[in-house]
Amino acid sequence: MSFLRPDLADLPAYRRPPEPPTGLRLHMNEAGSDWPAEAREALLARLRDMPFHLYPERQEELTERLRKRVGAPEGGLLLGPSSGALLDLVAMAGLSFGDTVAIPDPGFSLYPMLVRRNGGQVRKVPQGTDFPLEPWFEALDCRQIWLTLPNNPTGAWVSPEELEPLLAAAAARPVPPLLVMDEAYAEFAPATHRLAVDRYPNVVLLRTFSKALASASWRLGYLLGDPALVSKLATLQLPYSIPAASLEALDVALDFAPAFEPAVRALPERRDRLVASLPLHHAAPSAGNFIHVTPDPSDALEAEGIKVRRLPGTGAARLTIGTEADTTRVATTLGATLPQPA
Ligand code: PMP
Repeated sequence: MSFLRPDLADLPAYRRPPEPPTGLRLHMNEAGSDWPAEAREALLARLRDMPFHLYPERQEELTERLRKRVGAPEGGLLLGPSSGALLDLVAMAGLSFGDTVAIPDPGFSLYPMLVRRNGGQVRKVPQGTDFPLEPWFEALDCRQIWLTLPNNPTGAWVSPEELEPLLAAAAARPVPPLLVMDEAYAEFAPATHRLAVDRYPNVVLLRTFSKALASASWRLGYLLGDPALVSKLATLQLPYSIPAASLEALDVALDFAPAFEPAVRALPERRDRLVASLPLHHAAPSAGNFIHVTPDPSDALEAEGIKVRRLPGTGAARLTIGTEADTTRVATTLGATLPQPA
C-alpha cells in the first residue's frame, strides 16, 4: 500500500546536479560574482543584532518597500521564498485535478514537477530555440499558460509588442487562462513585460532575486498581479515562510541596489561577444545570463573544470555567463579568442 497520491507514483525527481560541484559553476545560471563588499558588511551587521528566537516580522513592511520601488499598485505584489515557491502557489491555488498547464518545450526542468504535484497535466508547447508564438495560440484552452521570458534553456525572448496579440486573444476567451510570465532573467533582456499585469487581470508576473540580484542563497522572489488575485494568493501562502534573515537580505539588497547594477549591465555585451566569437559552435541569440550551445561542448569544458548544464537528448548544453575571466576561459577552451569589451 502506498501513502502517496496514485498520480504522483511515477513523478521523476527534479534533476539536480550533483553537489558540491567542483570547478567553475556555469551550470545553475547563478550570478558570476558575489555581493558587493559594503552590502555584505551591512547585512552581517543586521544579522548580528537579529533576534533568532522570534518569527519573522518584516514581510509586510518589505513587501511595501518593494512594491513602491517597482511601481506596483497597492496590494499588487506578493513576496515569496523564491519564485519557484510562488509558481507552486499559483499552481496550487489555480489548478483542479486534471487541469492542463501549457509550458515551453524546451523549458525550465522544474515546471513539469510543479504542475504535476498540484494535480495538473502538462501540455508541452514546442518552442525550438526561437520562441514561435503560433503554438501558444493553440494552447489557450489550457487553465494556465506559463511563459518564460527569456526562455530557459534557450535564451529566446519576444518583445511586449510581439506578445500583445497572444495576451489579447487569451483575455478575449469566454474563460481566459491565467497567463504566468516567469521573468527570472528579465534584467538581462531588452525589456520587461510587466506592464501587461496592469492591463490584463489574467496575467501574473514572477521575478526572482536569485539571478541579477546575486541572492540565490536567500531564496527570494516576488509576484506581480491583479490585487484581487494577489490577496487571495497571500491568504494561501504558508505563514512566516520567508526566513527573517532573507528578509534582512532583501532590505539590504535594495539599499545597495546601485552597487549590484554594473555587473548586470555589463553581462549582455559579454554574452553577445562570446556568442559571436565561437568558431566551432553555434549559440542561439540569448536574452538571458546564459547561452544554448550546439554541438554539446560539455565534455571539453568539464575536462577543464568548467561545469555546465548538459541537456540530454538535445545535442546541446546551457552555459551560464560568468565574469569576464570566466568567459575568457570558456572561449579559450572552445577554441575562440574572446575580443576585448567594446
Ligand atoms: N524560473 C526560471 C525560468 C528559472 O530558470 C529559475 C531558476 N533556475 C527559476 C524560475 C527559479 O528561481 P528561484 O531561485 O527564485 O526559485
